[in-house]
Amino acid sequence: MPSDYDVPLRPELRGETPYGAPQLDVALQLNVNENPYPPSARVAAEMADAVRELAGELNRYPDRDAVALREDLATYLGHGLRGTQVWAANGSNEVMVQLLLAFGGPGRTALSFTPTYSMYPEYARDTHTRWVVGQRAEDFTIELDAALALIAREEPSVILLASPNNPTGTALPLQRIEAICGAALAVGGIVVVDEAYGEFRRAGTPSALELLPRYPNLVVTRTMSKAFALAGGRLGYLAARAEIVDAVRIVRLPYHLSAVSQAVARVALANSAELLARVDELRDTRDETAHWLRSMGLQVADSDANFVLFGGFTPDRHDVWQQLVDREVLIREVGPAGWLRVSIGTPTEMDAFRDALTEVLDLPIEQGETT
Ligand SMILES: *Cc1c(COP(=O)(O)O)cnc(C)c1O
Repeated sequence: MPSDYDVPLRPELRGETPYGAPQLDVALQLNVNENPYPPSARVAAEMADAVRELAGELNRYPDRDAVALREDLATYLGHGLRGTQVWAANGSNEVMVQLLLAFGGPGRTALSFTPTYSMYPEYARDTHTRWVVGQRAEDFTIELDAALALIAREEPSVILLASPNNPTGTALPLQRIEAICGAALAVGGIVVVDEAYGEFRRAGTPSALELLPRYPNLVVTRTMSKAFALAGGRLGYLAARAEIVDAVRIVRLPYHLSAVSQAVARVALANSAELLARVDELRDTRDETAHWLRSMGLQVADSDANFVLFGGFTPDRHDVWQQLVDREVLIREVGPAGWLRVSIGTPTEMDAFRDALTEVLDLPIEQGETT
């Protein structure tokens, strides 16, 4: 092959690298907010049976509209939602791209508040949508007056609000989401509340699903990758009014969601009680981890998700990250300078994380450390 071929990449993509967390072969994987508990042998067997059954029909395309799956998702979400108000794709990341394809685009603006999910600006770039960010407050919530002023000035077509936010774990109060929905409506924009971590909310933190009847421009996205322990299944979805779902259907690829994905997700949903059974335990482990980090004098962001963002240490964060990797603990170097994010694993995994961090940061050894 000639070596001097200059691939005719779009100019604004030149020099860009594919984004993603380092995939390292390290014993403790606490870096991409996966659920550490795999499906039980019984649920795994049920998934395998479902795939075996449909394998003989894989010469046929799947249900393009995933009607049965969307009904199941609506039932799972509750709030009186129907299948026509739900849309599903290969992870909520694909849902997000579809939303930007339908509602963003040339001459249009997408707005979010940093620090937040690092994929959003890439999807704006890929869909030729202008990208504007406001700053989150010191405590990582969104300061309403500044947000409303920014919305009035920029007139975004799409506002992306992760709640609970990644990488900070911050959930937004519903009144603020309501105010933002109202302001977006006034400038003709939709509001996407990304609830990828919705199931991990602390007691008393409501879901934006409650607001759907009142705001026609509200979209709530969810995923089966985190609480449902189905990251490998690639299934994300949204709930919104049927007109928004119909708009997204215009830009989706034909047969985007494979028959295998649909079948596996339906088995997972039929077993939601079992798959979600560990969520309470993960929440407790999260709160314990946050408590321990604080007791060590570190700064910790309040988290409604299955990870904790911590800072307030003096060494360079990359050095801390690397020294943890050297001790077989992989966490995530993400978010504001000087902070690191650790996903919540099993209690045993978190013990190992605490031991490694104690060594790396030379923290005081806790008396009578519990598990
Ligand atoms: C993990 C995550 C998602 C979900 O991604 P999938 O594509 O569904 O696996 C969406 N939004 C945020 C903020 C996330 O952290």
